[in-house]
Amino acid sequence: MRAESRRDLPAVHRVLMRPEVQALAAGHGRAAVVEAVRAGLAALRGDGGGYEEAAFLDGVRAALATRAARGLRRVLNTTGVVLHTNLGRAPLAPAALAAMAEAARGYANLEYDLGSGSRGDRHSACAALLRGLTGAEAAVVVNNCAAAVLLALAAHAPAGSEVVVSRGELVEIGGAFRVPEVVAQGGARLVEVGTTNRTRIGDYDAAIGPATRVLMRVHQSNYRVVGFTEAPEPREIAALARARGLVSVEDLGSGAVADLSAFGLPREPTLAESVAAGFDLVACSGDKLLGGPQAGLLLGKAGAVAACARHPLMRALRPDKATLAALEATLRLYRDHGGDPARLAREVPALGMLAADAAALEARAARLLASLPEAAGAAVGAGESLPGGGSLPGAALPTSLVALRPAAVGAEELARRLRAGAPPLVARIERGRVVLDVRTLRDAEIEEAAAAVAAAL
Ligand SMILES: *Cc1c(COP(=O)(O)O)cnc(C)c1O
Repeated sequence: MRAESRRDLPAVHRVLMRPEVQALAAGHGRAAVVEAVRAGLAALRGDGGGYEEAAFLDGVRAALATRAARGLRRVLNTTGVVLHTNLGRAPLAPAALAAMAEAARGYANLEYDLGSGSRGDRHSACAALLRGLTGAEAAVVVNNCAAAVLLALAAHAPAGSEVVVSRGELVEIGGAFRVPEVVAQGGARLVEVGTTNRTRIGDYDAAIGPATRVLMRVHQSNYRVVGFTEAPEPREIAALARARGLVSVEDLGSGAVADLSAFGLPREPTLAESVAAGFDLVACSGDKLLGGPQAGLLLGKAGAVAACARHPLMRALRPDKATLAALEATLRLYRDHGGDPARLAREVPALGMLAADAAALEARAARLLASLPEAAGAAVGAGESLPGGGSLPGAALPTSLVALRPAAVGAEELARRLRAGAPPLVARIERGRVVLDVRTLRDAEIEEAAAAVAAAL
């Protein structure tokens, strides 16, 4: 069929009268369809192309489908990285989801004291739980751990003051969060002590001068220094700060509330241990080992926390009602089931995934394998998952992988198709094969993952 010449492009209203286009308007709304038709015709005009109806309408349908696809979508995570920062870190507990939905749907006593009928404090519910769980005197909640550290330094290390940090802890967490830059941004001066591998308490002591305000310890979240190493005990740093009239701050990062060894995982310092070590302020994330929503917890001594709560930055860093509701519900799970690791692992999905045992993972992999089409060339094998989120560095958790080796499609192309699916499935590529780590799949997602693979083939 000869394409019509450029001056024969139909008018927009003519295209809109076609029954197929009317049907599209019923689903997408007339304004969106008009826009897609206009844009399609303009593109033809621009490149001098002819009008061929079937192809043109396909183009309009594709444009409308792209527009309708949500930007932020649920994805199936088969990377095995439990606290995958790019995939939104911790999946929330059902109790947290319910609390979040209820708070978000209507009004809540966010800053309203129901007893007195007057203004209340948005931090009070989470703060009470955090005090109970950690022994801290006070706590506030901010948007994330980066915000907690920023606020701690803004409140206690004013411009021109000095913050002392070990050279072994000048870490980059990811993106723009680099300890030296975070200290510098408030105008304080970073004083580095010790060496990359060895720092002693005497190094801190010798670095304290008239301008020093803060001794800061940063948990080596995402890396380890091994071999000939030395670092003071956390309590020595807190004690030195107290003796010299300074503020001690610990950036604990992952901030486990539960003792992870109860789940068969490598030990991580807990919030309670940091509080017991005597730090004035301890900062950590809500969506790493705690398994809650994105949030930053800042807890410690009453006076030090109060100074943070009063700081003008607090207003800019405070979380909303939905986050606070989800965090409170997650903390309640720790309060109510803290003594029962098995129960806690069932209630808090991130803990459950981290703690999943070999038998459960093997069974899940076998179920996935059985649901996959022959053409996937699938086989179950052993592998390792990563905790992610800069938590438990060096800890590789033994897992079961389903490796795909379809005859017809290469690994890169298959991974691309899986990402383009609905829902998208994110997998890893290992030694030229797409591998699906079942640690980060919920049982309810197995069939969906199998269907995603079938669709991609
Ligand atoms: C992860 C981490 C942060 C940043 O936490 P966010 O919640 O992502 O802001 C800061 N410090 C340490 C030590 C961390 O591990």
